[in-house]
Amino acid sequence: MAHKSSYYCPCCKNHISQFVPWPAGFFEPQSFKLENWNPKTGICSICMAMDRERLYVWFMERETDLVRANVSVLHIDPEKNVKNRLDTCSNLQYVCGDLKPLDPWTKGIDVTNLYYEDQSFDVVLCSHILENILDDGKAMRELYRVMKVGGWGIMQVPLATNIKMSFEDERVVTPEDRTRAYGHQDHVRVYAKEDYIQRLESVGFRVELYNIAEKYSIEETHKLGLSKEDNLYIVHKDA
Ligand SMILES: [Zn+2]
Repeated sequence: MAHKSSYYCPCCKNHISQFVPWPAGFFEPQSFKLENWNPKTGICSICMAMDRERLYVWFMERETDLVRANVSVLHIDPEKNVKNRLDTCSNLQYVCGDLKPLDPWTKGIDVTNLYYEDQSFDVVLCSHILENILDDGKAMRELYRVMKVGGWGIMQVPLATNIKMSFEDERVVTPEDRTRAYGHQDHVRVYAKEDYIQRLESVGFRVELYNIAEKYSIEETHKLGLSKEDNLYIVHKDA
């Protein structure tokens, strides 16, 4: 039986007895074997941080100078708990954008047609967006264009390790069919791991994988409600 405070949420900094599972039907990955999918430990019981938000905040605080450096950040469709953390960083020039902004602090932007000049941002965060976009290459080229040389970003997607090529079919258009095919009504594909990396590399990014279990330990990973299959896809724009 787990100890009273066996788990830890990097977003709210609380030690907790358990994480809450993702609601049934939230995402149905069919036969895909996914990275970054922790159905039993999906959500923090206190701050509601998703598993991926906990990994982002962990990475940003321990492996980057984001919370201290004077840098500009573009955050596409910002995850609430990551935004809350970055909002506390007065060192940042922090811009949030979404196709359909839900609050006045988020700008209305189309990731396939960004209105920012080339090399506008040191850091670009774009997670769980590209799988919703038919022309994901156009979005990737835009994200690369607005990133400064020497900049970096986090780019996450639903990603399967048991398929060779990304699974997508433009004839699959209804919410029901998309749920059946890809696991979610808004998605237009499930990425294959190597193909996803190649797509990012094809627009110019250098891709680096960050695996918390390899860097620290499986015990430390489980404490955050994460697993050894969780990877961050860190992109770099080299000179
Ligand atoms: Zn929390």
